[in-house]
Amino acid sequence: MAKTGSIPVTGLKRAVIFLGPPGAGKGTQAQEVARLYDVPHLSTGDMFRDHVGRGTPLGLKAKPIMERGELVPDEIVLGMVEERISRPDCKDGFVFDGFPRTLPQAEKLDQILGGLDFGRPVVLHFVVDSDQLVRRLTGRRTCKVGGEIYNVYVRPPKVPGRCDNDGGELMQRPDDREEVIHERLVAYERQTKPLVDYYHRQAVLQDVDGSADPEAVTQSVLRILTRAV
Ligand code: AMP
Repeated sequence: MAKTGSIPVTGLKRAVIFLGPPGAGKGTQAQEVARLYDVPHLSTGDMFRDHVGRGTPLGLKAKPIMERGELVPDEIVLGMVEERISRPDCKDGFVFDGFPRTLPQAEKLDQILGGLDFGRPVVLHFVVDSDQLVRRLTGRRTCKVGGEIYNVYVRPPKVPGRCDNDGGELMQRPDDREEVIHERLVAYERQTKPLVDYYHRQAVLQDVDGSADPEAVTQSVLRILTRAV
């Protein structure tokens, strides 16, 4: 059993969904929760970036869509997610980061989870005001080696441009440029925000104040999870 602060972390056996606009801190928190519970961190954005980097057929399809800040079509996302969660490392639960992002994705996920032995998902809804989102997105830098996430304003690395963990070079995502950020926020409002109501009606949604510092947000998230699982 891992321990963090005063909060004991035990087996998960659930799907945890991080829901919220781009820049709300879902990635940072989802990485941490997955590490503490020792379950896979399933970021559909990371999966797409991996495909783009390797130049696979899926990556070639997704690249221009991502560069415009739009959402990749549901059937492509769902195929990729279904394959991923069928792998043995997902048997004790998993943490979704950036999925589901549309109603059809959420409905399909409900069906899939119904066939697993997990019960209902825990949905953490990150609430952050829009000025702060833009600042977080423009300041975000990611380690090319291990994927660790930094922010030049709120979580700078010790050595500028280098990862604290492995010294890897820090890069800015192409879709974190200001003109694409606007499109991503519009896509969130139109296509993803309806999921807040969808999960609220299922009584599985928990609001998280994502504007606090990362350690405080982690503590709130863990408090919710230890009550819910
Ligand atoms: P993220 O890293 O979660 O911000 O995702 C980066 C980009 O990948 C998004 O702007 C979309 O183009 C694409 N993407 C990631 N997850 C999904 C999803 N669940 N549905 C559709 N597109 C997605």
